[in-house]
Amino acid sequence: MSRIAFIGLGHMGGPMALNLVKAGHELVVFDLVPAAIKTLVDAGARAAVSAEQSVDNADVVISMLPASKHVEGLYLGESGLLKHIPSSSLVLECSTIAPESARKVAQAAKQRGIRMIDAPVSGGTGGAVAATLTFIVGGEAVDLDAARPYLEEMGKNIFHAGEAGAGQVAKICNNMLLGVLMAGTSEALALGVANGLDPKVLSDIIAKSSGRNWATELYNPWPGVMDNTPAAKGYAGGFGVDLMLKDLGLAAESALNARASVPLGELARNLYSMHSAQGNGALDFSSIVNLFKRSA
Ligand code: NAD
Repeated sequence: MSRIAFIGLGHMGGPMALNLVKAGHELVVFDLVPAAIKTLVDAGARAAVSAEQSVDNADVVISMLPASKHVEGLYLGESGLLKHIPSSSLVLECSTIAPESARKVAQAAKQRGIRMIDAPVSGGTGGAVAATLTFIVGGEAVDLDAARPYLEEMGKNIFHAGEAGAGQVAKICNNMLLGVLMAGTSEALALGVANGLDPKVLSDIIAKSSGRNWATELYNPWPGVMDNTPAAKGYAGGFGVDLMLKDLGLAAESALNARASVPLGELARNLYSMHSAQGNGALDFSSIVNLFKRSA
């Protein structure tokens, strides 16, 4: 069994780390939020007082942070973690961040002789808990092979998208589509309800018709249609509006860099931006349905 440093124990990192503890690995965990550390310690992990301490003698380092600035802030610079990670370690950076940031950090790791892959995930908090995540990997194939046993403890599907940063590009394309589909699903359900349909009946119809998609079938935004979704819990937990907004921003940046057109992605970004500006940034992203719902 390996000694694993796990940094970032939020909605995703917490259950991912828990699955590695359950698999019998020795986990040393760190987060800025003490309560997040405590949950893992109660499950058998060891707490570190700092990110630097967590990587002492680590075979594997895993990070799951909100955005590019957190990842660059953690690994790079004079006091960055790359100065402390043993060169024999393998680093799995699982956050969703800009491809340029992923390449920058991977390049800095390589210069210090440290193996690193970008391995953003898809599958939501449910997938993190059930260890059914999809990992979308960028980096050297040989490093992915070394990472595979750990990824398999946390997920079900593993894809190699290409070299460093390619995992992030693929993840951003997926999430742009997800943002569009959730907004479109919300719009369609609200249209049906405004015209007298039962949202559950309409969702069942869409699930067996040509409009079917993940948002309608597994993560329905309309309260009362499904149990165990954020919509059933007042949009608490799940994948935050501001995280979706971040991913749509990354899609917009990637489009600008490549002179690609993303009109639907940009429309979705503006919808989530309006929704966030109305004080909903911390709610699950399926709460976008409230933009379309009639208040009475
Ligand atoms: P989160 O905000 O719940 O968790 C992030 C955690 O990182 C927090 O606990 C925070 O305290 C910690 N943190 C931030 N900076 C830190 C630092 N310097 N050192 C230690 N800990 C630090 O976010 P999340 O929902 O777990 O998402 C994490 C990443 O996964 C994001 O990049 C997100 O886009 C991606 N993602 C999320 C979902 C989802 O459904 N929530 C799905 C797929 C991918």
